[in-house]
Amino acid sequence: MIAHVVCDTCHRSETWTSSEVGWAVSVEQSGGARRPTVLPQRARGLTAIRGATGGPRVVGVCEACGQLLTTKDDGPAVVVVRIDTPDGPLQVDGSVITGPAGLTGAEMATAFLERHFPTPREPLLPQIARGVFMMWLLGVLVIWLLAFSAVVALLSNLGSPAPAAITGTRDWEHHEAPAPPP
Ligand SMILES: [Zn+2]
Repeated sequence: MIAHVVCDTCHRSETWTSSEVGWAVSVEQSGGARRPTVLPQRARGLTAIRGATGGPRVVGVCEACGQLLTTKDDGPAVVVVRIDTPDGPLQVDGSVITGPAGLTGAEMATAFLERHFPTPREPLLPQIARGVFMMWLLGVLVIWLLAFSAVVALLSNLGSPAPAAITGTRDWEHHEAPAPPP
């Protein structure tokens, strides 16, 4: 028996051939470059929900990208998919979808995933660029403050006598005028 197994996310493709000891996997296309357009947990959940409602069945985890491997062929056993959230796990076992607080069915599960793993408001790259810019600004400010305080310290030292001379004088005065004996 042969099953064609694919990862819809990164386009990895494998041929599974059944033998007496299990499935022999032959990688046709390694994939791995593409990533899901939504958060990984949500992408896994959506693939599992699709599998539970008549889509390609989930039979494993993609070695290349961590998403789910699916097949339209009979043979490989369906694996249980579990997505953990702070509210509890969402579980897809074959065609049975269950979750916390009486969650059941594809519609509730899809909304649940959307709530827990929302689409980021803006892409990551501008956020990183803004972070780098803020660090740069902070660095410039710190360097400017250091330079400023160094100049101030230099100027105040120039304007007053050396502290060592004052200390020396005081020590000398102290030794010259000891406390009178009682
Ligand atoms: Zn993949």
